[in-house]
Amino acid sequence: MSNKAVLVINCGSSSLKFSLIDPISGEVIVSGVGERLLSKQAFIKIAFQGNKENTPLAVPFDHQVAVNFIVEFLHQHNLVECLFAVGHRLVHGGEEYSTPTLIDDVVKYSIEKLAKLAPLHNPVNLIGVNAAEKAFSDLPQVAVFDTAFHQTMPAKAYIYGLPYNLYEEHGIRRYGFHGTSHYFVAKQAAKLLEKPFSQTSVITAHLGNGCSITAIDNGKSVDTSMGLTPLEGVVMGTRSGDLDPGIIFHLIEQLNYTPEQVSNLLNKDSGLLGISQMSNDCRTIEEAIINDQDERANLTMDIFCYRISKTIASYMASLSHFDGLVFTGGIGENSDLVRTRIANSLHLLNIRLDEAKNTDVRFGKSGLISTPNSQHCWVIPTNEEQVIAEQTYQLISGEK
Ligand code: ADP
Repeated sequence: MSNKAVLVINCGSSSLKFSLIDPISGEVIVSGVGERLLSKQAFIKIAFQGNKENTPLAVPFDHQVAVNFIVEFLHQHNLVECLFAVGHRLVHGGEEYSTPTLIDDVVKYSIEKLAKLAPLHNPVNLIGVNAAEKAFSDLPQVAVFDTAFHQTMPAKAYIYGLPYNLYEEHGIRRYGFHGTSHYFVAKQAAKLLEKPFSQTSVITAHLGNGCSITAIDNGKSVDTSMGLTPLEGVVMGTRSGDLDPGIIFHLIEQLNYTPEQVSNLLNKDSGLLGISQMSNDCRTIEEAIINDQDERANLTMDIFCYRISKTIASYMASLSHFDGLVFTGGIGENSDLVRTRIANSLHLLNIRLDEAKNTDVRFGKSGLISTPNSQHCWVIPTNEEQVIAEQTYQLISGEK
């Protein structure tokens, strides 16, 4: 282990994920997550040297308590000396941030201002930054933005069909998310192809609870399915993805929904959960299809996969050439059923899966799952923490 470890922090509203990573070797030294924060059930799970431990957190059960616990843990195990910097996952960097950025008061202020574009994410991300600043006052803190990789999209991909002044005056445009993940797996695909990233054109499908598809042309994001917010695009675990905006007026005017109810409906009650009325978890839907031949579960899966296939096919309009398709995220990495259904609708793009390889490459494995005559199709487990650690290290050390 070098003495240049980066503490990566990903702060959610009631959780705080962290890992201490050697940015050069990629070794994860310690990792963990504080869960159910801000409730009396708050606890922290830590994995270190093959052991996993759960510890209840103390009053006031908040993010600061979780960070203080991590500091204490690092002290107890003599790991503080190897700390080099703290890297934070920040969701929305707007148009201001297209690269990793050293956090200071000015940056914090503009992240706060960008909260109007990401009210659910930026304020909680900042809680993590503030807690880490208090705990590690001597260390540089770096922000790595989820939107940054997509800042290369051309205007034709990011401007909505709305009056242009909404973009100019209010920043209403498509930004895209999951950028760190799309970047990581696309770079891995370039390595597998033995091509420079700057000459690699792939479509990456990040399918987790949130799902997004990105077209990467010669190493640059040129289109992505999420928009101003993560609600746009394909059907997700609980989000509807694209729909006729007229539905919103119908809900408000005819069915008396309040704006808050509409937001909850589209963000929390739709997607796999809403259609199946069963679960937002892909595994539960799969089990219902396989064990019970449940028709609604089957329809849910068909809708989910068809929307993804349509998006992938539409990105042929965005690329100069096509080197292959990458699956990642909890569903993309594990569900051979989802991958089969998506690929079945893409045979005109010459995407054909090798059934045995498709069944085999799951549970953290990485590999090619297409037949020899097909376009390349890979499963590549994502590793956003690794990118955040590397980019934080590179920014602070000046080393590439
Ligand atoms: P998040 O977006 O919260 O990071 P993940 O990338 O962890 O989510 O993905 C969560 C999704 O992955 C869930 O829908 C879960 O059902 C799915 N998933 C995890 N393991 C499997 C599996 N073995 N088979 C099918 N789906 C899986």
